[in-house]
Amino acid sequence: MESVSDLSRAKRISQAVVKKGIKLFLAGDAKLEKTTDSAIYFRVSSKNTHEVVMRLRPRKWSCDCTYFSLKVKPCSHIVSAMLLLEKRR
Ligand SMILES: [Zn+2]
Repeated sequence: MESVSDLSRAKRISQAVVKKGIKLFLAGDAKLEKTTDSAIYFRVSSKNTHEVVMRLRPRKWSCDCTYFSLKVKPCSHIVSAMLLLEKRR
């Protein structure tokens, strides 16, 4: 699967976004909310609370924040959720 370090190496996300995502993750702001057959839902509390969804087949991440809707690139909330998922395995 695509990991945060893969994305970072491929320069598909900015270092600022990675740093912010790591900070959210370390602060415990990313929480797994529920798992279904088709997706995993996360809740990330930043300034606002955001819902991050990872669809499973095909694997696709999304977030309800402005950054993601404008850039369609992984945001810090998605990074924090990815790290949470990587830690759990
Ligand atoms: Zn976001």
